[in-house]
Amino acid sequence: MTDIRRKKISIFGVTGSIGKSAVDLVRTYPDKFEIYGLTAHQNCTELAQLIAEFSPKYAVISNPQSYAELSQLCHEADTNLLTGADALVELATHQVDLLIAGIVGLAGMNSVYAAIQSGQTIALANKETLVAAGHLMMAELQKSEARILPIDSEHNAIYQCLASENSSDIKTITLTASGGPFRDLRPSDLHQVTLESALAHPNWEMGPKVTIDSATMMNKGLELIEAYWLFGLKPEQIKAVIHPQSAIHGLVEFCDGSWLAHMGIADMRVPISHALGFPERLAWPTESLDLISLGQLDFKKIDTALYPCFAFAYSVIGTNPANAVILNAANEVAVDWFLAGKITFTEISRLVDRALESNINRAMLNCLDDVIALDRETRIFLSAE
Ligand code: MG
Repeated sequence: MTDIRRKKISIFGVTGSIGKSAVDLVRTYPDKFEIYGLTAHQNCTELAQLIAEFSPKYAVISNPQSYAELSQLCHEADTNLLTGADALVELATHQVDLLIAGIVGLAGMNSVYAAIQSGQTIALANKETLVAAGHLMMAELQKSEARILPIDSEHNAIYQCLASENSSDIKTITLTASGGPFRDLRPSDLHQVTLESALAHPNWEMGPKVTIDSATMMNKGLELIEAYWLFGLKPEQIKAVIHPQSAIHGLVEFCDGSWLAHMGIADMRVPISHALGFPERLAWPTESLDLISLGQLDFKKIDTALYPCFAFAYSVIGTNPANAVILNAANEVAVDWFLAGKITFTEISRLVDRALESNINRAMLNCLDDVIALDRETRIFLSAE
């Protein structure tokens, strides 16, 4: 009998929606996986429970103000507890078989960069990392042994369709979008949208930031930027379409007229299990996609009057990378404000537009500090508005 070593994994952002799905799969297969590192921003209670359950070698609570509470909750654990943004970067350099990058927003960028430089295999869910610093990440990826397995469902779908294909044979790729909760509204109805209705996604259960991004379709725009870096295609080869059933997640059109599509139930554990099992498939008790009850597959063009954020994101693909940083920062600010009840739904796109049209300095971004500085400058610009 061959000795099957357990895969050693670290989960960044373990208390978020991606992290929870990953833990769910790992918990089902204690003989296949062992958790080496866990990180959370400030949710001490959940992180402490996971530390007690999995006894990881390291755990990071990135918000230093939460460190004392975590230490107290875990005083009996053997886990090394660390805190601060530098600790995330440090843990990202510790060699594991798979590093799951599930932190939302730019907060995850430095650790992904460090993981790439350390030659890790990275299951990437953090799209903002590629959106804001794709040119820097891909340059490092070329130089290192690192590999990115995308676990955003659409990119994972495309990745699976491309398995052994030559990239020169790809004509187009298409990411599907559910259209979010407002797909049947008219653009003139958007001013009535409430926070509660924006958080009620029809197909996917996700964290609040990405749920709002789905309602504005900024999510799909960010995903196209992410796809641009991941798959090395020209902007005109990257497309998106509304597909309300969310049964097809991504499609690839080849030069010979063939199309490959990836289908599956709308459950993040499907793409995450692909990365966990890679290069094999992990047999887990997933629900089956029922074609008969699905009945039909519909596709619809994305109306940019209904989804102006999508158009803004699409417009920056292939341009100066600074534009994507400004777009992403403005969107993070606007979504925060919307979630806090400070602005209306339609003001999200207005703020993004205002930042993109501003004369914020778009100098060359040569390092992550340049990205962070521009991100901060955009936030200051919007706060002063
Ligand atoms: Mg997605």
